[in-house]
Amino acid sequence: MLQSKKDIASFTLDELKNEMKEIGEKPFRAGQIYEWLHKKLADRFDEMTNLSLSLREKLDQNYEIRKVEMVRRQISKIDGTNKFLFCLQDGNMVESVLMKYKHGNSVCISSQVGCRMGCRFCASTLDGLERNLTPSEMLRQIYQIQKISGERVSNIVIMGTGEPLDNYDNFLKFIYMISDEHGLNISQRNITASTCGIVPNIYRLADEKLQITLALSLHGSTQEKRKSLMPVANKYDLEEVLRACDDYFRKTGRRITFEYSLVHGVNDTEEDAGELIRILKDRNCHLNLIPVNPIKERNYEKPDKKSAAKFKNKLEKSGINVTIRREMGSDIDGACGQLRRKTMRGV
Ligand code: SAH
Repeated sequence: MLQSKKDIASFTLDELKNEMKEIGEKPFRAGQIYEWLHKKLADRFDEMTNLSLSLREKLDQNYEIRKVEMVRRQISKIDGTNKFLFCLQDGNMVESVLMKYKHGNSVCISSQVGCRMGCRFCASTLDGLERNLTPSEMLRQIYQIQKISGERVSNIVIMGTGEPLDNYDNFLKFIYMISDEHGLNISQRNITASTCGIVPNIYRLADEKLQITLALSLHGSTQEKRKSLMPVANKYDLEEVLRACDDYFRKTGRRITFEYSLVHGVNDTEEDAGELIRILKDRNCHLNLIPVNPIKERNYEKPDKKSAAKFKNKLEKSGINVTIRREMGSDIDGACGQLRRKTMRGV
């Protein structure tokens, strides 16, 4: 059987030093290669011109720089948001988004091909999970966007397709590598990871004491409501999830962002707002309301602007730090997983 080549851009600098030892090269080569991969954002070994031809050939025999290749780019006429569809080495596709704000450029990446969490309103999960992304496939979504757009990326959100805490080891390695001074050196404070609430891994993440923001997808303010929208709530109930979030805040000092997709008639009533106040009022946190982005497979609707504002005001009056998320790229299939689905199905 053909031995598959190793995924070189998923090695940390220390791991790469060991790899060099194993193939009989000096450890300092690792520094050079790491810089080519993660600072100069090379796509091929033959770009690495300060390495000898024989070393480049040796690398090529043993390793590969796994492909993350743009196949489609859509630019919003409304707000300049760019949506990218990338093809991976094995033909799978993932999507990422570049959002331009006054304070800098933010990239939203995917962490898995598909997703197995089954949230009712989400397009990414309709076909289930295909596979996890490797650290290099997460990193290289950002590298490609930076190269293609010519824009420097300063903020990262892991809110594309997939559940990062369901791909925990690769996700964690990604965080270390993207914030490493030998790579793009993006401040952890500018990184937000969003989870549907896989409790044991929230505790593990808290113990890493990173400075990233944890965003928790709440979507329901009682266990029953949450369960009706998010199957993961059958496994980890609301109380447990909130306790894990408290632990994250205690250990890292980073305030949790709670995300709440407003679904008209489902979780946007006065009563829902009241319950939400009850669970959030004594927590030092931020609440982000997201009017649901309807997908055609489900008949969920977003509330109109007025009633979303009313919901927000009620929370605000109770002292909760709340915003309604600005809708970006609504003309370019902005919601999770929509572009990928469209392309895979040839619609
Ligand atoms: N698996 C992670 C990341 C998912 S995407 C998580 O569950 O948090 C980021 C956010 O967008 C999540 O809060 C998710 O619930 C929400 N989301 C997904 N589809 C949506 C839609 N159609 N409309 C509004 N929000 C959506």
